[in-house]
Amino acid sequence: MVGLGPGNRESITPEALGAIKEAQVVVGYPTYLDLIEDLMAGKERVATPMRGELERARQAVALAVAGKKVAVVSSGDPGIYGMAGLILEVAGGEIPVQVVPGVTAASAAAAALGAPLMNDFAVISLSDLLTPWEIMIRRLEAAAQGDFVIVLYNPRSHGRPDHIKRAREIFLRHRSSQTPVGIVRCARRGLEEKILTDLENMLHYEIDMLTTVVIGNSQTRVMGGEMVTPRGYRL
Ligand code: SAH
Repeated sequence: MVGLGPGNRESITPEALGAIKEAQVVVGYPTYLDLIEDLMAGKERVATPMRGELERARQAVALAVAGKKVAVVSSGDPGIYGMAGLILEVAGGEIPVQVVPGVTAASAAAAALGAPLMNDFAVISLSDLLTPWEIMIRRLEAAAQGDFVIVLYNPRSHGRPDHIKRAREIFLRHRSSQTPVGIVRCARRGLEEKILTDLENMLHYEIDMLTTVVIGNSQTRVMGGEMVTPRGYRL
């Protein structure tokens, strides 16, 4: 299980690069395999479609059981909304599995925005493919109430354009409409875009599946164009 980071070559750790170089077979979405195309010489490439996670996990495990060295690549960190859990479930202890961490989207987005994650924060995915919406609402509510900085993954897709609107309504019940919000698209992928806005105006900007949204807590400020959540030092 190898994390490729948010998208640029410099964000792939040397450990992840080493794991890919060692592998005989590399399994993953075509987009991620394209990112490491130059490392693929002499390797078997197993590209699987977006929703085919279970099939991909079974295929990868079967190849490993057959004696191949297999790298399953994920964006960011494979243990954060990635494939690591599913692979471990499917492998069921039959083969040794190693998880190689990567720079997750929350780190990449935070770095683009300044330093919004300096205090306690919560990461919530707005995808209801695997988590029921009622549970998501409960978690959004609890994180908003607990004054956590909140990082939203999978913030919007065509199938569920309204989740981000409902999430915002929950935050507005617990936070000022002036609360800073950072929107980062394609962090560290060359075409990185960042917007600094607030809860009042956040929906006026494009938010899609390549975007990570960071909602500040009651202490978060914008200072010199950077989003900062003070840790509490007295200056
Ligand atoms: N395993 C990945 C997360 C997969 S969930 C990780 O650790 O980063 C997919 C979500 O991650 C996307 O919908 C988006 O919210 C976020 N994401 C992934 N790459 C990103 C990037 N380069 N810029 C902004 N957000 C990104």
